[in-house]
Amino acid sequence: MLEKHEKHEEHEEIKVQNLTRFYTLVLIKSKSPITGYYILKRLKEDLGKTSSPTYVYDFLKSLKREGYLEDAKVSDSKRSQGYMLTTAGDMFTENIFSRFNNMIETAIQSKIKICASCGVKLYDSVHTEKIRGVELNFCCKHCAKAYKSQISA
Ligand SMILES: [Zn+2]
Repeated sequence: MLEKHEKHEEHEEIKVQNLTRFYTLVLIKSKSPITGYYILKRLKEDLGKTSSPTYVYDFLKSLKREGYLEDAKVSDSKRSQGYMLTTAGDMFTENIFSRFNNMIETAIQSKIKICASCGVKLYDSVHTEKIRGVELNFCCKHCAKAYKSQISA
């Protein structure tokens, strides 16, 4: 069989543009050495999606080609071909993670509600009350009460 793609030497930046790739990096970062088999298993269990093994292995191959991964034996596995992050790979994943963090932060912030009384940021527990026909968000009912007594004063 011809291994045509092995021959091309061009440097291409690895893109991490979907959850499968991103989560693969998370797994590699959290468990090293790691096997492709384990990655596929976790992708299925954690994300509830069956990823194409070819897609995942190609991604691992390109990470290895860039020097981000190196081969490592995983002794307790039947499929013992494993991978380990190199120092460059460690930097690469850190970089990707911080980019994603910024993105997630922005996404969260656009959805954040603020307590109308004390101004605290509300992430998941929001107490809403309709006051003078307007639905307002509060951190708790005490803040809502304080707000009501304030506007009626
Ligand atoms: Zn409050």
